[in-house]
Amino acid sequence: MTFYYALIVFSLALTISIISYKMKLLTIGGSIVQFLLAIITLGLGKMKWALPIIIFFFLSSFLTKLRERKNTSVNLYFEKSGQRDSFQVLANGGIGGFLVMLFQIVHSELLYFVYVSSIAAVCADTWATEFGTMWKTKTINILNLKMEEQGVSGAISLNGFIGSFLGAFVIALSSLSWIYSNKITILLIIIISGLIGSLVDSILGASIQAQYNCAVCGKITEKKIHCMKIAARINGIPWINNDVVNFAASIVGGFFFYLISIFLKV
Ligand SMILES: [Zn+2]
Repeated sequence: MTFYYALIVFSLALTISIISYKMKLLTIGGSIVQFLLAIITLGLGKMKWALPIIIFFFLSSFLTKLRERKNTSVNLYFEKSGQRDSFQVLANGGIGGFLVMLFQIVHSELLYFVYVSSIAAVCADTWATEFGTMWKTKTINILNLKMEEQGVSGAISLNGFIGSFLGAFVIALSSLSWIYSNKITILLIIIISGLIGSLVDSILGASIQAQYNCAVCGKITEKKIHCMKIAARINGIPWINNDVVNFAASIVGGFFFYLISIFLKV
């Protein structure tokens, strides 16, 4: 890496983090972790590795802001508000940082597509939530198919599914310039991997993710503290929160691409 390239990477990473903090997309901790991940991803992987996560981050943040304006009641449920913190940034981009470092040792293009698929899963899941809660819509539990309030972990809807497809599609598209053969097949596998990751996210959300019941307002929530009171856990394992589930979904998305590409020999 030349001195000038290092300078560009440093300024770009700093600019992205300052914008994210100023626009209240990230907490101060979130923007510090983002800065470090951006240095690693841009520095080692250049635009090829940075583009998917940059597109994911800015388009998702925009969707979150839009949804917050359209549907304020959903915020009461979510564990974290629109401002993403350091754990959320790590849960979404940690695998990417790890894979771009691994790529420096193992120069396999497969690693790149595993990475893109893990981002596709995270993006599919995020957009499923944003599309699924932007407008009023029929929402059911993915496991028992009973009617569920919008925004509850493991609750799915048609709008949410459209969102998850678009999320995976946009991330797949961001890698198009770096797919040299079997373009359509690889794009399709990335999209399917993203959808599978998002599906697993919903299943984990409906089964082992911690859920609480607020004694004050009676709502089911993923927040430990609701209406300024400690809520009672009614479901799931205490340490399995939304970040852990998102992280698992990103691993599933990447791993699914790996399995399918070996199976199809692409
Ligand atoms: Zn409450």
